[in-house]
Amino acid sequence: MNYQNTLAFAQEQDRQDPLFHFRERFHFPQVNGRDAIYFCGNSLGIQPKSAQMYIDNEMYKWANLAVEGHFKGQEPWFNYHELLAPGAARVVGAKESEVVIMNQLTVNLHLMLVSFYRPEGKRFKIITEGGAFPSDQYALESQTRFHGYNPDEAVVELFPREGEHTLRTEDILVSIREHGEELALVMMGGINYYTGQIFDMEAITKAGHEVGAVVGFDLAHAAGNVPVKLHDWNVDFAVWCTYKYLNSGPGGTSGVFVHERHGNNPDLPRFAGWWGHDAEARFQMKKGFIPMQGAEGWQLSNGQIIPFAIHRASLELFDEAGMDNLRAKSEKLTGYLEYLIDDVHAGQDVMEMITPSDPQARGCQISLLVKKDARKLFNMLMDAGIIVDYREPNVIRVAPTPLYNSFEEVYRFSEILHECLQAH
Ligand SMILES: *Cc1c(COP(=O)(O)O)cnc(C)c1O
Repeated sequence: MNYQNTLAFAQEQDRQDPLFHFRERFHFPQVNGRDAIYFCGNSLGIQPKSAQMYIDNEMYKWANLAVEGHFKGQEPWFNYHELLAPGAARVVGAKESEVVIMNQLTVNLHLMLVSFYRPEGKRFKIITEGGAFPSDQYALESQTRFHGYNPDEAVVELFPREGEHTLRTEDILVSIREHGEELALVMMGGINYYTGQIFDMEAITKAGHEVGAVVGFDLAHAAGNVPVKLHDWNVDFAVWCTYKYLNSGPGGTSGVFVHERHGNNPDLPRFAGWWGHDAEARFQMKKGFIPMQGAEGWQLSNGQIIPFAIHRASLELFDEAGMDNLRAKSEKLTGYLEYLIDDVHAGQDVMEMITPSDPQARGCQISLLVKKDARKLFNMLMDAGIIVDYREPNVIRVAPTPLYNSFEEVYRFSEILHECLQAH
């Protein structure tokens, strides 16, 4: 695409954007009395206006039906989670029965590891990306300890080559093959939170399976950002949160994918609770756990109705917009951001983009490694009404989301970045 560094060009792109009107369906945070330029959907998505109504419905039911709300009314709480599965399945490319919405991300990751990290004999290692999100690191560390291993031996972290910021797929695959029979699990992010790199989930899954390992992904930064095809790629399990690109509120609920070849296997070890028990027999309150078929069989507790209600509002927007349309816009929008950043700081050596420049290898986030006073530059941007985020020691992450951000915002961002760099 031929980009131009002019406001008129940006505005013309917005006029041609079939998704432009989705902006109106969100509340934008206010800075200095006006809408902020919000490029932080990778950390906490903004509020869909419809969320309030969905919450109010459930508050009304609670007020007027109380315990009867579990079974009475239009959408009883007993199976409210079922309303979320179709939309969630479309976001991650799964069958409805392979997806369940429950709990929060790290909890779900542990539940999946209980079922899918089954070290035995010399097969006990886990391959993961070095510098994974800390919660994932702690989950793997504690799970290997739980099984009696030393995490320094059991967890194999992959790092980029000297002088590079992202992992090469070929190196990931070689490492999987090298560890071969020692490998119990490959567990990586779908997109690395720090660099914004997409990992080739299909190729990694295939390589993992070839050496007899199980393969799972944390899609915290992928779900709602890029199209994913968990079922077709044959991924064993996946987890994601809903409060980042999926705009479902702080501390929001989370999603789990279990491929159908595992979901209907009642013998797979798991930690069980009454909400995963055969729904027909759940209220007979009898001894003897019989798991539901599919991902639902991993549920523990009765549903978190208020977070679910918010998630429902958000999933409806994703269904209306469509992941493929979002991705098409996202590639242009992020490409425009990259182009403008290059233009703005041409000839200076203050920043380096550590996100892959290949659009197929990234989602909507661009991570800027700032070589001098990163914190100061970040504060200047924030004071000017741009909400981005800062990750120690020196990275500013900028994420224009296709659902509610515009080309004009990307243009304004680059103008302000230019001013800040001059004063920096
Ligand atoms: C955001 C994020 C988390 C956060 O975990 P919670 O359990 O939702 O607090 C974990 N892992 C990754 C990869 C993330 O991006």
